[in-house]
Amino acid sequence: MAFVVAIDGPAGAGKGTITKLVGEKLGLVNIDTGATFRCVALNMIQENIQIQEEEKIQKMLDKIQIEMYPDGKIFLNGKEVTHRIRENDVNRLVSPVSVLPVVRNKLLEVQRSIAEGKNVIMEGRDIGTVVFPNANVKIYLDATAEERARRRVLQNQEKGIECSYDEVLQGIKDRDKRDSTREIAPLKRADDAIYIDSTNLNINEVVDKIVEIIKNV
Ligand code: C5P
Repeated sequence: MAFVVAIDGPAGAGKGTITKLVGEKLGLVNIDTGATFRCVALNMIQENIQIQEEEKIQKMLDKIQIEMYPDGKIFLNGKEVTHRIRENDVNRLVSPVSVLPVVRNKLLEVQRSIAEGKNVIMEGRDIGTVVFPNANVKIYLDATAEERARRRVLQNQEKGIECSYDEVLQGIKDRDKRDSTREIAPLKRADDAIYIDSTNLNINEVVDKIVEIIKNV
């Protein structure tokens, strides 16, 4: 295994931004595993497959192709979906989809093979616990639900997406609950993960902290 940094934590904790910046600073390939689950959810929407149609999902997964490039672009079955997978219909479906064992098994394989032979910083929910339990560095990045909702609303405003704070907060709470209570690979801090609460820290403070931790390994 090459060098692996695992960054886990709930929705909106800043994993995406932080992982990208730390990766750039230290020359690590940045892998966003949430995007792989989002691609599966989008593929189901495109093929009009319902969550209980396990056989159809399996067939779809047998031929799914997910590509992630260093510039952050994501392709699903040959088409760019970088922005499409952040839209509301995908947001709603992704968490229920990520509970399905067929999906998790398939994506475990996909995620490990994307990282193969590279020095990576990988963000998700179960990287330090399931995908790479022997990761060189494990970080659990957290913040209060209210702060995470506030950040998400700002992010959306920057992108010109209309949303209400209450709706976003409720969505985050629902997702947290589903992600941490599911049976397979739930969101939880690995015993050997370093816990960082970013509620009162800015982006640079969190990046510096993590860079320091990695350098001291
Ligand atoms: O990180 P992001 O919000 O894009 O992830 C979308 C969803 O994918 C999460 O809410 C979670 O349900 C699922 N996920 C997961 N395991 C991961 C990454 C994401 O179950 N490693």
